[in-house]
Amino acid sequence: MSKRRYKKSKRRKINRRKVGILLIILIIIIYGICNNMKPKYQSAETVNYQQASKINKCIVIDAGHGGEEEPGCIFGNVYEKTICLQIAEKLQAKLEKEYSKVVMTRTEDVNVYLNERARIANRENADLFVSIHQNALEDDDVTNGIETWYNPEKDKESEILAQNIQDNIIESTGANDLGIKESDGLIVTKKTEMPSCLVETGFLSSTEEREKLTDEEYQNKIVEGIYNGIKEYFEQTENADTNINGNNV
Ligand SMILES: [Zn+2]
Repeated sequence: MSKRRYKKSKRRKINRRKVGILLIILIIIIYGICNNMKPKYQSAETVNYQQASKINKCIVIDAGHGGEEEPGCIFGNVYEKTICLQIAEKLQAKLEKEYSKVVMTRTEDVNVYLNERARIANRENADLFVSIHQNALEDDDVTNGIETWYNPEKDKESEILAQNIQDNIIESTGANDLGIKESDGLIVTKKTEMPSCLVETGFLSSTEEREKLTDEEYQNKIVEGIYNGIKEYFEQTENADTNINGNNV
């Protein structure tokens, strides 16, 4: 090889190397740009998946009483309206993780008329309605326990809902079991068009139970019981639709 030809081929080799390096740099830049173009937020698909992973049910939680005119029962400076809202808010937070829609009839210390509470649930076409209250007896600071009311004029589902909530709330709190009770005189359970019940979560007139009801840990146990009751109610009624509505049992 002549000296000249050797130089030429060496130059070509160097050029090829330069092109190679440039190509690699170019690939790195393009890769970087593409990576940057990836959305930093959740894609619509991910969001939809998360929504789809929630159970498609609408639950209405009714915190009893409210406002100046409807405080409910008051014992030892503990107001029923306050305890009701505290429990309802905790229940709302827990249910929202599992179910697609949770509606509160009140979120502040205001009075909502009983008919309006039922109307809210009917307007939402809710799957179920749970009202939260506490009990009281005059001149009796001993009687205690939890009971759940339902309207016997309604479909069998209301009784099943009441029983599931009652059983689970007794299990989680260890409270005295006063059972499920029938009444056709409670506006909220009567006027709601879906399965409904009203839980008396304890006696504010009982010194011992009142103390428990103001305790956050105990409120969480109540919430856990209602939550599990709702869950079991849905499982039961969905698996046995024909058993409830038909007479196949
Ligand atoms: Zn009440």
